[in-house]
Amino acid sequence: MPVSRLSATFHTQRRGLLRHAGALAALGALDALDALVSPAHAQAARNQPAARRMPVLFIGHGSPMNALRDTAFTRQLSSWGRALPRPTAILSVSAHWLTRGDTRVGVQARPRTIHDFGGFPQALFDQQYPAPGHPALAREAAALVRQAQVAGTEEWGLDHGTWTVLKHLVPEADVPVFQLSIDYDQPAAFHLAVGRDLAALRDKGVLVLGSGNIAHNLRMTDRDSADGLMASRPWAQQFDAAAWQALAGRDDAALLDYRRLPGAAQAVATPDHYHPLLYSVGAAGPGEAVKTVFEGFQSGTISMRCLQFG
Ligand code: ZN
Repeated sequence: MPVSRLSATFHTQRRGLLRHAGALAALGALDALDALVSPAHAQAARNQPAARRMPVLFIGHGSPMNALRDTAFTRQLSSWGRALPRPTAILSVSAHWLTRGDTRVGVQARPRTIHDFGGFPQALFDQQYPAPGHPALAREAAALVRQAQVAGTEEWGLDHGTWTVLKHLVPEADVPVFQLSIDYDQPAAFHLAVGRDLAALRDKGVLVLGSGNIAHNLRMTDRDSADGLMASRPWAQQFDAAAWQALAGRDDAALLDYRRLPGAAQAVATPDHYHPLLYSVGAAGPGEAVKTVFEGFQSGTISMRCLQFG
């Protein structure tokens, strides 16, 4: 089943369940998604060469512990990965590689797995994601960016915004991955424009991935909240819904002017996890349709919404 139909089916199921049985039952519908992807089809999809323009993804990554968990979210990432065409490489723009005053791209042949967090179990620090890099495509990406001079660097690697989700999306770690940093001194429009410059990579089989969270404020989480479709706080729900409305209508101006959306002051108190979304929006063609592949909240207020353009 094509991923668009898959998603439509998923949405129909989810919305119906939301109306009739509440949020927890709706999360149960996610479990049924695996059954919709037959192993034969999934394998065929994974092995296809990138014959068409690659889609663009945005993934709400949430806690680093998602790397180790088996949840509706991680199972959805697995299903999604099997349904996607096989990329020649993945360009990840993660909320966790912020640079000041410049934009950099990772040109390592073997990017290291970065455990950029503290206070988690040793099992998480033991995780490796040994995907190769792609220095040639990384340098090509740098040359495409007109908004800034992008420098190649070996200083970074794959941070947890990238590898904790790729663990599920591409568990074999056999697709080259490189990261582009976020110049944290730049305004929203800059990030969308860089994403637009990178769109040409899609025709070379590159999967552009933004990894952040649409609503993310670590000072205002409810850590005891179970994962679910509903946020524990109205501002998180409102901001996520308003951002989705803007996305669905491809109202990119509203996404750039996100501070005007309801709940923004709390949901995007700092823009580090929102900016990756703008790279994905930019890499999508103007007006290109977007669908939600997963939605819900972790720790009460962190939006786990995941998107696919194209
Ligand atoms: Zn994060």
